[in-house]
Amino acid sequence: MTKMISLEEARKLVLSRVMPLEAETVDLLDAAGRVAAADLKSDIDVSPFAHAAMDGYAVRRCDLAGATAESPITLEVIDEVPAGGVFEGTPQAGQCVRIMTGAALPGCFDAVVKYEIVSMVEGDGKPGGRVAFSAQPKERDNVREAGEEARAGEIVVNKGEVITTAGVGFLAGCGVLRVPVYRKPRVAIIPIGSELVPPSENPGPGHIRNSNSYALAACAKAAGCEADMFDIVPDDEAALEAAVREAAATHDFVVTSGGASNGDFDFIKPVVERAGELLMTTVNMRPGKAQTFGIVDGTPVFGLPGNPAAAYMGFELIIRAGLLKMQGRTAFEHPTIVAKLTCDKKKKDPRRLFMRATLSHGESGELLVTPAKNQSSGLFGPIQKTNCMAVLPEGAQDAHAGDEIAACFWMSPKEPLSNSAGPGDNQPLDDVVGPARDEPSSDETTSSPLTQKSQTGITDSPIMLPDARRRPPWQHKARIHSTGYPTPSRKAIS
Ligand code: AMP
Ligand code: MG
Repeated sequence: MTKMISLEEARKLVLSRVMPLEAETVDLLDAAGRVAAADLKSDIDVSPFAHAAMDGYAVRRCDLAGATAESPITLEVIDEVPAGGVFEGTPQAGQCVRIMTGAALPGCFDAVVKYEIVSMVEGDGKPGGRVAFSAQPKERDNVREAGEEARAGEIVVNKGEVITTAGVGFLAGCGVLRVPVYRKPRVAIIPIGSELVPPSENPGPGHIRNSNSYALAACAKAAGCEADMFDIVPDDEAALEAAVREAAATHDFVVTSGGASNGDFDFIKPVVERAGELLMTTVNMRPGKAQTFGIVDGTPVFGLPGNPAAAYMGFELIIRAGLLKMQGRTAFEHPTIVAKLTCDKKKKDPRRLFMRATLSHGESGELLVTPAKNQSSGLFGPIQKTNCMAVLPEGAQDAHAGDEIAACFWMSPKEPLSNSAGPGDNQPLDDVVGPARDEPSSDETTSSPLTQKSQTGITDSPIMLPDARRRPPWQHKARIHSTGYPTPSRKAIS
């Protein structure tokens, strides 16, 4: 029960205890980022008719057989079809119509020749004039066919697919304006600690502001959920039990922060054990060893540590996966790439280490990763000022400048990579990484010989990195593994 388990085991455990929620139907505009809970079909052919892909002339290819630059063929322009218009005439041999992009191609024509390669013989190329063609176009040249994107009745988005912003446009074209999607989990966020005061207050002696609730609620929202921030619960076992029971009865997932270690006033473990089923207490990661998970009243309850960075790690690396699964998603990992460490790192703590770090580009465009100087688990600031987590695997093996290590993104990999971690916090960290005062290192380390490679299998996919100043991004290749992606107090903050 209290055995330290690996991060992967912890995530697997949480994933095994959650299921996609029931479906709800939302307006198309609210469907971006949600997962389709049913197959979605188009009600018409998309596009509904063959149309011109260019401004030009609709022609019959047979009229232009043998046309060359030396002996061009001249056709009479008999009409003009704007987008939205329909040509209903019957052309004779040697006739063509001027046609605009998006206009329906009359059935009697079989190609569109763009303006730029047509020369005026008489008039200005408009109806009544004559134009010369120096080549025969290919069949259906510059024509977008009816049903090219979808056929009437065809499934266009499968159940289980994440609907992207482009997907919203696609579905609009297919007439799908109401979309069945998996419901957003309602997440309760409970801050535990007698020292905490709301951020709206100036903390008195011995007090600090409750910052965790805001970060965790923001994380929950960013992960697609609704979040309710509960009132601060003091370090009182009965008060905590009452809050956890209330949250479990009214929410899909309960997240607490603080009181998760073995101190005299740490009550989340005994509360979960008494109120339900305690399944996990410690994870082999740093920061954030004390991670409690269990089930109360059928609801997953996750007790994060109180230290801000440790709580943040636990949410992003474990809880988020469960919340994504509840929304029907199947990819849970943050995108991770391999970059060169810019400094030596001594590692004494055998836990897998997540260092707040900054990815940037070196002189020749290579990816570099620089750990922030301040790696205290008690701070949010270094996470705000950096753009990734640099990962050192389990074990006490030192890392050296130039080593290739995994770097895990919090953000979309298309976000620009900052070359500066912010004032005072982008210096290489070259001191010894030992046990933090508040996180005693443990001998209970379970064997999980996870290297960056074995985590999820690094592949050689190219990725676009917008800030490669010396080498264009499309020439830059980095190994990338896993691209999971992907968001709202008794007070709803959606
Ligand atoms: P704990 O896990 O309860 O031992 O707390 C560890 C550290 O995190 C202590 O310094 C707490 O004051 C701090 N802490 C606990 N909860 C919060 C919170 N909600 N916001 C900010 N800091 C917190
Ligand atoms: Mg505490």
